[in-house]
Amino acid sequence: MNKISIAIHAGASEATEITRLKKTEIMEALQQSVNEGYKLLTKGAPAFEAVAESIRLMEDCPWFNAGKGSAITNKGTIEMHSCIMDGNSLKVGAVASVSKVRNPILLALEIMKKSKNCFLCDEGAEEFAKENKLQFEGEDYFFTDHQLKYWKEKESKEPSGHGTVGCVALDLSGNLAAGTSTGGLLNAASRRVSDSAIAGASTYANNKTCSVCCTGDGEVFIKSVLAKTISDLIEFKGISLEQAIEIACNGDLNRFTADVGIIAIDTSGKVESYFNTEKMYRGWKNSNEDFIGIY
Ligand code: ASP
Repeated sequence: MNKISIAIHAGASEATEITRLKKTEIMEALQQSVNEGYKLLTKGAPAFEAVAESIRLMEDCPWFNAGKGSAITNKGTIEMHSCIMDGNSLKVGAVASVSKVRNPILLALEIMKKSKNCFLCDEGAEEFAKENKLQFEGEDYFFTDHQLKYWKEKESKEPSGHGTVGCVALDLSGNLAAGTSTGGLLNAASRRVSDSAIAGASTYANNKTCSVCCTGDGEVFIKSVLAKTISDLIEFKGISLEQAIEIACNGDLNRFTADVGIIAIDTSGKVESYFNTEKMYRGWKNSNEDFIGIY
């Protein structure tokens, strides 16, 4: 029987006022997300179901930039993006620019399971969500006081801030999965599509190699196809996940100045993490480790 393993992140960035003021709540939310995903894995659930559940919990937590608590665009709108991938079938479900679906990760999961397409956006995605009876919320649900404050303070400045959530898991059958969900960047151009919705950029899973989630400067992950590059390095060079992350971060990625955070799991369930920022909210659990950390 395979070992189960799960790892999550909730963004890599500088510490904020919220990091200090809400440290206890944030640690509890990370722990709950890891525990609930892990519980599903122990019951034999597929890795992609555990990933979706762990992310759903983080989307419902106001302190992370996904679902409730999403960042606000330059037009004052909420636009959320998400992607999930099953490393067994290589199936992908992705969604961009939705503003009323409570849990974009559940919409991405439905797309992965039921749609002929991999990626839906905007009204088309919300139509699919309605057909599949996903929960909708009024816009007020997504806006939080701290994101409104950041938005008012930052209105005339460059897009910034990170806090995306992600999860990777290995299930009892040896199947890997990865998922990511985000409100994008604070003050981002309206209708900018986040890397978090793009399979291969920030989300990738393949039973032959690993499952990976990236967080940080999204445009750079799209240009360097970071998550897929890490998987390819393992597949084509026969190196370990740890070495693949190191090479990928020193390769094309090194040509850009970027905030980078990565969590990943290899085929044996070993967790690797990397970040070059002050903090990355993160946690993982398997038979060897049970960890939650910020700095
Ligand atoms: N990568 C995300 C984006 O650029 C931000 C993040 O990871 O927090 O939309």
